[in-house]
Formats: sequence, C-alpha cells, structure tokens
Amino acid sequence: MEFSLIDRIRERTAQARDDVRLGIGDDAALLAVPPSQELAMAIDTMVEGVHFPRGTAAADIGWKSLAVNLSDLAAMGATPAWALLALTLPSADVAFIDGFAAGFAQLARAYRLALVGGDTTRGALTVSVAVHGFVFPGKALRRSGAQVGDAVLVTGTLGDAAGGLQLVQQGHGGQAQGAYLIERLNKPTPRVAAGLALRDRATACIDISDGLLADLGHICAASGVGAELDAELLPRSSALLDLFDDAASRELALSGGDDYELCFTVPARHVGAVQADLAKLGCGATRIGRIVEGDGIDVRDREGHRLEQSRQGWDHFGA
Ligand code: ADP
Ligand code: MG
Repeated sequence: MEFSLIDRIRERTAQARDDVRLGIGDDAALLAVPPSQELAMAIDTMVEGVHFPRGTAAADIGWKSLAVNLSDLAAMGATPAWALLALTLPSADVAFIDGFAAGFAQLARAYRLALVGGDTTRGALTVSVAVHGFVFPGKALRRSGAQVGDAVLVTGTLGDAAGGLQLVQQGHGGQAQGAYLIERLNKPTPRVAAGLALRDRATACIDISDGLLADLGHICAASGVGAELDAELLPRSSALLDLFDDAASRELALSGGDDYELCFTVPARHVGAVQADLAKLGCGATRIGRIVEGDGIDVRDREGHRLEQSRQGWDHFGA
C-alpha cells in the first residue's frame, strides 16, 4: 500500500528537470547542483490542528506545505529547484493523497520544481517538506543587513490569513470577503519572483510567517537595529477592512501570522525603483516605516503617538 501511495504521488507531481539525474524510486535522489551557485535549503513541518485547522481540504494542505517552504526560499532570493516530502498519515487514504498531490503539484509546476523523494509513514497527520534552491554566491538576502535610515517595506497585504483563521474558527466565512481571507490562509502565494527581484536591492529580508512584529523583530535583532512603523501605512485588504474594524484589522496586520508576504529593508533612495519592480510582478510593495538606531519596534499612529503592546494586543495609550 505504501508503494502504491508513493506511485500516486510520483505520477501526480511529475515535473521534468535536466538536473534530476535520479528522482523518486531509489534510496536517495541524485541531483546536479549548478557549479557556480550555492544551494539554499529549508524545511518546514505542518501538523494538523496546529499549522492548519482540522477539516482543511487535502489540496489546500498540499499547496500550503510547499508554499510555506517556497516562501523561505523567496525570503533568501533563491530560485526553487527540488523538494522532498515526508508524509505521516493516519491511514492509507487514497482520496487524501490524490487531493494533496494535486494541490502540491499545482504550485510545484508554477515554479518547475521537481519532487525528488520523501518518506511515508503512519501516524497523526503531519506534512514535512524540504526545498532546495539556487542562489549566486554572496547574493542571498539575509536578515542581518538592515542599516539605520533604510526604509521598511512589505509585499501584498497583511493580516488576511489571521483574519481568515478567525472566520474558520467561528464557523463562518460564506460571503465573498470571508472566502477571500480563508483562501489567503489556505493557499498563500509565496513571493518568489519578488524575492528574486530584491536580490541586488534589499539590505535584509524575511518572510512573514509569525506576524509582522515578530518577523521584523528578527531582522532588527540580526541587524543590531530598531524600527519605527506607521500603523496608518499597514497595507490591509478591502476584505479585511470590511469584516474587521480598524483596531482589529490593525492588530491582525501587526501580529497575525501565516501571510507569507516578504518584509524587507532597502536604502531610502531605492524605494521608488523597488516599488515599480514589485508592482510589475503583481504583488506591489508598501513602505511602512524605517530602520532606526537602538533595538525593538515602535509602532506609531497618525498623530505620531506610540502604540503600546498589551496582553490583548496593541492598544492606543495616547501621548
Ligand atoms: P527507503 O526505505 O529506502 O527509505 P522508501 O520505501 O521510504 O525508501 O521510499 C522509496 C522511494 O520513494 C524513495 O525514493 C523515496 O524517496 C520515495 N518516497 C517515499 N515517500 C515519498 C513521498 N511521500 N513523496 C515522495 N517520494 C517519496
Ligand atoms: Mg533507503
């Protein structure tokens, strides 16, 4: 049974690549790494009930398990090439495998990514994907290069996935805006082309998986700097603004996870050019703040007053 499951996955995800000398079927895959490039590798595990809600469609799980990994390559400015898939299933559920493989393959084809091997075991539903990509030596985008005076930008819109998760947990989302937010949760778009476009421009980059404040916080810590954000500038979708009030949507945009947008820093003089490049790629980029001396992140409202973090979220304490 294990082998027919593996065959189903192999058939449904087939993607020809010259650099795959030996794919699924032997004890290890054999891959030809381009001699002039570095290999970028990342792995992410998703556990049912932790990283995706119970009841998520198999195709969405397949898509998302790859998307979150492609997002890591995007954040490094790497070109995706290969993946490994470790699948733990409660039972040999052929319908689940077919749906999963269809969702995975849909995204893999878009990036000419080949699934070259994996592992299949029985247990609580857990999906682990490892991806491999290429980057020219010295060109990878790291978290550590942000400089005082750089602008802070993000691709796309923030808070949609966390808004979608609230709708799923509350058991609704039937209307169009709700469906949009839930789609953003279940089928995030990895910003691979944006990451490639940022290679010679961004001083630091990270993908937003844990929320803007947490992930920009990683850039600040790795770079030894602080940041100031203007809450007014946070890009929020019309769906999020329609379904959540201003304070709730701001909180989701600051702290909600799972958007898989890129947060990056660029020297202020490059902001216009970078925004023009990313607009052509369809995701756009919004300037939300700046890198400053010190550490930590200050969020300011329209009047320039600091927002303070409370246990409930981010409150406006005024001057
Ligand atoms: P081994 O026992 O030698 O580790 P397996 O029986 O686990 O081999 O796997 C047989 C082949 O199928 C290997 O090439 C492995 O990489 C591949 N494979 C197993 N599970 C998966 C999976 N879920 N997705 C893709 N390839 C898989
Ligand atoms: Mg083996």
